[in-house]
Amino acid sequence: MGELVSLSDLEQKASAVRELLCAAVREHGRVVYSNSLGAEAVVLTDIIWTYAPEIDMFSIDTGRLHEETYELLEKLERRYRRTLRVVHPDALSLERLAASQGVNGFYHSLQARLSCCHVRKVEPFKRAIAGYGAWVTGVRREQSATRAQAEPVEWDGEYGLYKISPLLDWSEGEIWQYIRAHKLPYNTLHDRHYPSIGCSPCTRAIQPGESRRAGRWWWEQPESRECGLHPRVRHATAQA
Ligand code: SF4
Repeated sequence: MGELVSLSDLEQKASAVRELLCAAVREHGRVVYSNSLGAEAVVLTDIIWTYAPEIDMFSIDTGRLHEETYELLEKLERRYRRTLRVVHPDALSLERLAASQGVNGFYHSLQARLSCCHVRKVEPFKRAIAGYGAWVTGVRREQSATRAQAEPVEWDGEYGLYKISPLLDWSEGEIWQYIRAHKLPYNTLHDRHYPSIGCSPCTRAIQPGESRRAGRWWWEQPESRECGLHPRVRHATAQA
């Protein structure tokens, strides 16, 4: 998890996140946060709902999430006395998907998996960010080689708005330090060796020594296992 920082350094990092988010609102007007309900999302939810409430927030319910993820969503709403907007896949597209590939067709081919991610994540995401000037994401540099090259504020040509990544320089250890220091609720699957949590049928616990994304789409080749909202391959479109 890397070296821990002092609490005052941690608060300085949190303060830099607040400043970046407030500057994004000043610069881009309507800003929206796509909340993945992972560990980074808990930190960003705390900062946004406490210090930058003008930033809208939504989460995509793919219909295949873990029960623990729904429990976290409710805990966050209770703690901050706010309602998290939940965006669902288009019902007709979902029916067509299940009719063409079956309910668990994503296991059978990369194309089928990408189609499922498109219907359940990418299309709802595009709908949810339409009309905004910028979207906020919780990606961190140490998560992948592609993310290592990211900038805190970038033009997102894929979706046609600015992308704000305030946690780029945070380590996994700092994320957890913040969660514990502020006694934030988090997805209890993290305590059972799920560092990265997506849909239930496509996420599993990792073994000691495995990479943090080894539990995502584990039956595929490593190079295709990226979420489509931060694509490593242009056609692979789905959310982390
Ligand atoms: S992660 Fe799995 S279940 Fe979720 S949208 Fe993608 S393929 Fe479908």
